[in-house]
Amino acid sequence: MASPTDKPCLLELDGGRLAARLEELAQPAFRARQIERWVYECHAHDFRAMTDLPRTLREKLDLGFDIWQGELVERRVGTGGTTKLLLRWRDGATTETVMIPADAGGRARRTVCLSTQVGCDVGCRFCASGIGGMVRNLTVGEVVEQALRVAAGLDAAGERLSHVVFMGMGEPLANYRVTVEAVRRISRRLGIGRRRITVSTVGLPKQILALAEEELQATLALSLHAPTAELRRRLIPWAEAIDLDGVLAACREYFRRTGREVTLEYCLLAGVNDHPEHADELARIAKQLRAHVNLMMYNPVLELPFERPSRGAAVGFLERLRAAGANAHLRHSRGLDADAACGQLRRRLQSTTTPSRSSGSG
Ligand code: SF4
Repeated sequence: MASPTDKPCLLELDGGRLAARLEELAQPAFRARQIERWVYECHAHDFRAMTDLPRTLREKLDLGFDIWQGELVERRVGTGGTTKLLLRWRDGATTETVMIPADAGGRARRTVCLSTQVGCDVGCRFCASGIGGMVRNLTVGEVVEQALRVAAGLDAAGERLSHVVFMGMGEPLANYRVTVEAVRRISRRLGIGRRRITVSTVGLPKQILALAEEELQATLALSLHAPTAELRRRLIPWAEAIDLDGVLAACREYFRRTGREVTLEYCLLAGVNDHPEHADELARIAKQLRAHVNLMMYNPVLELPFERPSRGAAVGFLERLRAAGANAHLRHSRGLDADAACGQLRRRLQSTTTPSRSSGSG
């Protein structure tokens, strides 16, 4: 493991603050724009690559700043090209980032799934990321770095990052300011249209309403996973304190204020939330919200008692939803061959290394 430096990280400085730091180095304001172009458009992470900057300035910047602050611990490529990165941050905390390729209608879609927290407090019963609770929020720089690392990897393959989803480790709206700033920065600097950015939430009504006022135009995805309040409370501990009707009302309001449809994420757990009556209730909610339903098949987690439904059962659920009038589709499983579930790779690393703060105890 490379020893982390204590140099300030460039990605933690927004445009204004970078210009101020450059002014301290007696540099003109346009240098900030030059550097940002290298970092965000060319995905450079080494000052030596910035050939239109004076050599002396490059050396000063190299001594004074890091561009990326994480360390790549592991990179796994699964069948179909899904790529998972395990990143270790300066304090030893680790998170996962996933690149999901899809080609539809002659268009190459390359999506990055970003983490917003180290661990997660929501504690969904079926999720590896929630085991061990939350360690800390990620910073804006750490979230943006995940997107830049994936974009840089795609550059090398002659491809481009096209979509961004905030659906990795953590509850994005529980790290609200960082999520909003990261959406803005990724949209503006990496040139990803806000309509190609999706923010997921387990359903925090106050933050959903606040997000509607941000003029982000991002898609909101509600991780519903259970169509009744009772089942939801069993699967998602935070649902004990957050009334499902309140969550759905906030989603309706989000749609009313932004004109952006909310999508419903629903992870099928064999024998738990995939009964015909669940499909009927889910269809009722989807029609009420005018929401599209994304069905996913569960990727099993070693320590947890949930199972993936058969393909036939999942298709049967999808057909029942559609027959009830819901707009829905079943997402192709793009799991990796191992450690496919969110948080699983990190769990495996933790079990094979000396526990650090990232073990979830902090
Ligand atoms: S599914 Fe999402 S919200 Fe639930 S514990 Fe996992 S990371 Fe947290």
